[in-house]
Amino acid sequence: MLYRKAIVAIADGLGDRPHPLLDNRTPLEYAKTPNLDRLASKGITGMMDLISSGIPVGTDMGHLILFGYQPHHYPGRGPIEALGIGMDVKPGDIVLRCNFATVDEDGIVVDRRAGRIRENTNEIAQAIDGMELEDGVVAYVKPATEHRAVLILRGNGLSDKVSDSDPKAPNDGKPYCRIKPLDTSDEAGRTAILLNLFLKKVHAILSAHPINQERIEQGKLPANFILTRGAGQVTQLEPIVQQLNFRGSCIAGESTVLGVAQLAGFKTVTDIRMTGNIDTDIELKARLAIEEIADNDMVYVHFKAPDIKGHDNEPFEKARAIELFDRMVGLILQQLPENVYLALAADHSTPCEVGEHTGEPVPVLIYGPSIRRDRVQQYNELDCAYGGLGHLSGNEFVTTLHGLMGYVKKQGN
Ligand SMILES: [Zn+2]
Repeated sequence: MLYRKAIVAIADGLGDRPHPLLDNRTPLEYAKTPNLDRLASKGITGMMDLISSGIPVGTDMGHLILFGYQPHHYPGRGPIEALGIGMDVKPGDIVLRCNFATVDEDGIVVDRRAGRIRENTNEIAQAIDGMELEDGVVAYVKPATEHRAVLILRGNGLSDKVSDSDPKAPNDGKPYCRIKPLDTSDEAGRTAILLNLFLKKVHAILSAHPINQERIEQGKLPANFILTRGAGQVTQLEPIVQQLNFRGSCIAGESTVLGVAQLAGFKTVTDIRMTGNIDTDIELKARLAIEEIADNDMVYVHFKAPDIKGHDNEPFEKARAIELFDRMVGLILQQLPENVYLALAADHSTPCEVGEHTGEPVPVLIYGPSIRRDRVQQYNELDCAYGGLGHLSGNEFVTTLHGLMGYVKKQGN
């Protein structure tokens, strides 16, 4: 078998619609992208639906598929977030996403985000981390970005079929919700009881915490509670790198993407200079991509900014973000080793006029050694529809790439 390597550059939320402010062109058509277009003229292109036509996906699901899993492998957002912030996750764990919040003595939610607390969340989490509940069940808490955190319940006889304590926006001023079992199983009943008990203890401990006392003195809202949501149970999933028997690496600034990469068994590379926005360090990302491909078979480089500008309905800014992506890809291309494919992909469309993810397909491209070229000259939503890869699903795209790399087994004899 002939084995080759691949670097995949992912522009988050890249796909869009023609926009009136851009002369009815998409941000990708409007942006000046000499490097992406050069790859289009020398590579093979197509249009990809992550799952299937018309179905919008989240960044977590989109990346799960781009890393090589099937949609039904989705483990829930909680486990992905936990992995993304470097928590140790074991099969059977119940993982919940949390906010540090402010509640009063009657359990009324004063602020769902504790005044958007950013500082000292590590110390606050430590005060409630590792708490032993009943029958050997232990609760682990670790802060994520800003006011967010992740809670893991570890022990026997637990279930993720429990409701949220978070009353969700815009419900400041209402009491937090008591956690209820969502089915009649003993496990769900027990998990709900344990979580309610835990939250009570959390409130008592955090209300007395010196950092919160200090916050009150400074006129800030104390982080004296955690609101939980989205319970998910971790299942055993064989890492992609084991399934295919290769080595992988992922360069990203966003915890969701890093979490999926961990799940797939890829090494994760991150740095404070990768901001997850338009001020991210593209030179660093490009340099790391070239460094990582020396020791790995497959490297993903994630670029978040197009998605953020799509959510914010800023078509010119989205085009500017895409031009930065083009420069990053250009820097990778300059030093791309001969035996390495360079692929372009996106995890979903985030059209500016919608400000949310939609189910429209995204353009994809593969460039590299002995690739069957097509006649497409530009990388965008319109031209790539005429490409040689045709219209394919996320799984088909990844399998195509794995096949070129030499890792797809022959069917039959
Ligand atoms: Zn995304």
